[in-house]
Amino acid sequence: MTRSLVLAEVIDGVLAPVTAQAVTAAASLGGDVVLAVVTQEPHDLIEAASLVGVTEIVTVAAPGSDRDHEQALAAAAALVADVDPDQVLAGFTIRSSAYAAALGHLLDLGVVTDAIALRRDESGPLIATRSVYDGRVHAEVELDASRPGLVLVRPSTWEAAEPGGSPTVRSLAVDLPESRVRSVELVRPSGDVDLTRADVIFSVGRGVGSQENVAVFAEVAAKFGAALGSSRPIVDAGWLPASHQVGQTGTTVKPRLYVAFGISGALHHLAGMQNSQTIVVVNSDKNAPLFGHADVGAVEDIHDVVEQLNLLA
Ligand SMILES: Cc1cc2nc3c(=O)[nH]c(=O)nc-3n(C[C@H](O)[C@H](O)[C@H](O)COP(=O)(O)OP(=O)(O)OC[C@H]3O[C@@H](n4cnc5c(N)ncnc54)[C@H](O)[C@@H]3O)c2cc1C
Repeated sequence: MTRSLVLAEVIDGVLAPVTAQAVTAAASLGGDVVLAVVTQEPHDLIEAASLVGVTEIVTVAAPGSDRDHEQALAAAAALVADVDPDQVLAGFTIRSSAYAAALGHLLDLGVVTDAIALRRDESGPLIATRSVYDGRVHAEVELDASRPGLVLVRPSTWEAAEPGGSPTVRSLAVDLPESRVRSVELVRPSGDVDLTRADVIFSVGRGVGSQENVAVFAEVAAKFGAALGSSRPIVDAGWLPASHQVGQTGTTVKPRLYVAFGISGALHHLAGMQNSQTIVVVNSDKNAPLFGHADVGAVEDIHDVVEQLNLLA
């Protein structure tokens, strides 16, 4: 029976959403799913970590900050030795990127980043799918079956595992090295928005035309309780901070509803929003490629539509 070790991502004492998604990815492989929680007070997170599909939670008390990658590396290496998994999963995030390559090197693991699908035959190798060439091609990467593979899964690609599981819990004492990393201050970008947590996103593209018009869409989005996303040209123009950008080099999102205003549907943008539950596209060009991914489409001028929405709100 296969065994997966999922390395939880803890940010400021809270489990990041990608952890529950990585649990779903691990559970899809069958077998045991061991969720490791490494933070200052891991016992505070046991309820949040008791997700459906998790068979065991292993906690490691780590004195440093949740951003301490030396501590994360040492704890992950000890966990792999203790759990002896067939595969190790974590989110593909800035945090895991700080230690995953070092972990792969230290333990001689095969490493796959930005995985969008995973499968494993009972006796065969783990096969991870990555999208390459700007999303034009999907590549299947086969990991050496004789040793664990380390797979970093793309956020917002798997459904989040639900709370309410009943895993066993144990703690692992790890002698963590004195860290050389000091976290001085967390400076969030101004206008910061966490699109990964948004239920509804209104997203604006180049069709919006001007920074003044972005403000109109921002106002209407707020009235509907939606977060404001954008395509890259809007960020490149300086009309919105980078935290609003959806896409391959922006944020990957999976809201219940994604409404795209004046966005053509380039592969780079699609890579970040195509897993949204319902996609609504408003574009004056009926041939815009994004219509091919829409559940609902309107060939309309976005300024007329936003005016109507403003009246409705
Ligand atoms: C390495 C790399 C990484 C990239 N990463 C990203 C990324 O993460 N995210 C991202 O979004 N892009 C990214 N891009 C850019 C991407 O390739 C596209 O250029 C970009 O997504 C296009 O944005 P857009 O759809 O807003 O603009 P356009 O392609 O110019 O489309 C504008 C659309 O608005 C419509 N429109 C115009 N006026 C109106 C109106 N009044 N009413 C209705 N519709 C109207 C037009 O018909 C058109 O379809 C990346 C590019 C590269 C090279």
